[in-house]
Amino acid sequence: MRIVVKVGTSTLAYPTGCPDIRHMEILVKTLSDLKNAGHEIVLVSSGAIGMGVGRLSLKGRPEDMPTKQAAASVGQCELMYMYDKLFGEYNHIVGQILLTGDDFTNENRKNNFENTILRLIEFGAIPVVNENDTIATDEISVGENDTLAALVACSVDADLLILLSDIDGLYTKDPHKYSDAKLIPLVMELTPEIQELAEGEGSGLGTGGMITKLHAAEIAMRHGFDMVIANGARPRRLYNIVEGESVGTRFLGREKKPGKETAL
Ligand code: GLU
Repeated sequence: MRIVVKVGTSTLAYPTGCPDIRHMEILVKTLSDLKNAGHEIVLVSSGAIGMGVGRLSLKGRPEDMPTKQAAASVGQCELMYMYDKLFGEYNHIVGQILLTGDDFTNENRKNNFENTILRLIEFGAIPVVNENDTIATDEISVGENDTLAALVACSVDADLLILLSDIDGLYTKDPHKYSDAKLIPLVMELTPEIQELAEGEGSGLGTGGMITKLHAAEIAMRHGFDMVIANGARPRRLYNIVEGESVGTRFLGREKKPGKETAL
């Protein structure tokens, strides 16, 4: 299977922006093992801004663009250093790909990026994708990595997209507020009722939330592959997800149509 795994800042870093070494180690070990088992892995990783906040000892997620971009510049190095080191322990090679929204709308740039990522996969490397936050202004950015991961999954014609977040999946109510909230294991269709469940903001250092995850699900389902939302605090469950077991919330892709589409 060709699997795109997106991991959010809340899984990779503590609220201070320091890397969560335990999560990162288990995540990389599990992905390395899945790769050894024959799966092709693409990792879409957030955490650049968050880890930059940690490295530069900033007080919180920056509001202004230059500080955000400077933090991303520092944090992206930290991220790739960690991935290179950890995947290297299992003899896997990583390649960094930084994209903006433009790279999906401009046909030429899209072709270039797709050629690169497909060649990396062919070489057996693990592409590590993020938004190019140092140059992406609001007008040209995708804006968050849930949608970015779905677009990347379309580009590589993935079989499965997994979004690892700080929540177990989609609930019938906000589980932070209501103790009787129930996890929804399977979504076959994005009805208005399902869309209504996606209220609330993401965590402190990241940008996602359930709204962006449902947007990603819409792209995945339309393109014909499944998407799963699961908790990044338990990366070993990736094995169960790949086996098709019920973990988190699975959004069923509709029957695959031939040919690709631009999904923005
Ligand atoms: N590209 C951002 C970062 O690396 C993350 C965006 C997101 O959390 O969705 O910090």
